[in-house]
Amino acid sequence: MNERDIKFAQIGRVLREHHKFAVLSHVRPDGDALGSTLALALSLQELGKDVRAWNEEGMLQKYSFLPRADLLTPPAKVAEDFDVVIALDTAVQNRLGSSTAAIRQAKLWINIDHHPSNPRYGDLVYIDPTAPATGQILFELLTGQKLPITPAIAENIYAAISTDTGSFQYPNTTARTFEIAAELIRCGVDVGRTSQQLYENFPRRRIELLRELLGTMHFGCEGRLAWFALSQTGAQALGVIPEDNEGLIDHLRAVRGVIVAVFFEELRDGKVRVSMRSKNEAVDVCAICKQFGGGGHVLAAGARVPGTLAEVEEKIVEKACAAIERNT
Ligand code: AMP
Ligand code: MN
Ligand code: MN
Repeated sequence: MNERDIKFAQIGRVLREHHKFAVLSHVRPDGDALGSTLALALSLQELGKDVRAWNEEGMLQKYSFLPRADLLTPPAKVAEDFDVVIALDTAVQNRLGSSTAAIRQAKLWINIDHHPSNPRYGDLVYIDPTAPATGQILFELLTGQKLPITPAIAENIYAAISTDTGSFQYPNTTARTFEIAAELIRCGVDVGRTSQQLYENFPRRRIELLRELLGTMHFGCEGRLAWFALSQTGAQALGVIPEDNEGLIDHLRAVRGVIVAVFFEELRDGKVRVSMRSKNEAVDVCAICKQFGGGGHVLAAGARVPGTLAEVEEKIVEKACAAIERNT
């Protein structure tokens, strides 16, 4: 057995042998976080386990079409005891947010993720930085360990992989990713229907937000850096909710000549949420975000930086431009 299969066997044994589970994922969840959480929770339910599927924000409106979305809720107000807690897609433990407070005690923590910056917290850890999505790791785990994959589980895994690969576009999308997608379609996934739910069903508010953001768009570093920003005032005027902005940064990345795209979002707590994307492996945006206490992947990373919008913009733009000039 290779190292991966040994680890999967250990995790598989723990999943079969214990009874009460909590499956958690990161704050400001994306399709990979929510789809992966539901997929694993449903598979455990199929095994007859007692399962909580928790995310600080509960289920997002835009992912509420996912099969059995009702299973995923905000964490319980009164902390509970568990045999096993599984953190999915979460690069640093504190990004589990308030879910952590709802775990009074757990015999074992499992950490399954694909972020290279993951510091390997937990008792049983499987990190594959080459996997384009945590959903892809879960597919390998469930099939490898002969754990249940129902059509509902398949659709959740498909949504996780589709969203984290930018619809099978990003460079970490491999032949294996397409093989898994094919398997998931054979398990019952309706690609057209799922894609429409994921990419053609946004509220009008989201396109209004894009219009607002484009009004603040800037290019720097000789067209190799692009950014836009959302102030609290702008967000309030449009009635924006956090899930509205996922993916809008891709409009900047899509511009010819742009290597790094940045999205600044003023938060209510005096911090700015910085979201960064790179189109060139030589420019590691995770390294930039780490300097500000954040993390992520080489081509997609984030941080929460104290300061006003203008202050944070200036600092990040300077660092990003320096990284572009040093590495390209
Ligand atoms: P986002 O720009 O929010 O879509 O995040 C891009 C990537 O960076 C994701 O893989 C996140 O997990 C990671 N990331 C975002 N914000 C943070 C943060 N504050 N700390 C660590 N990792 C982050
Ligand atoms: Mn994620
Ligand atoms: Mn992910």
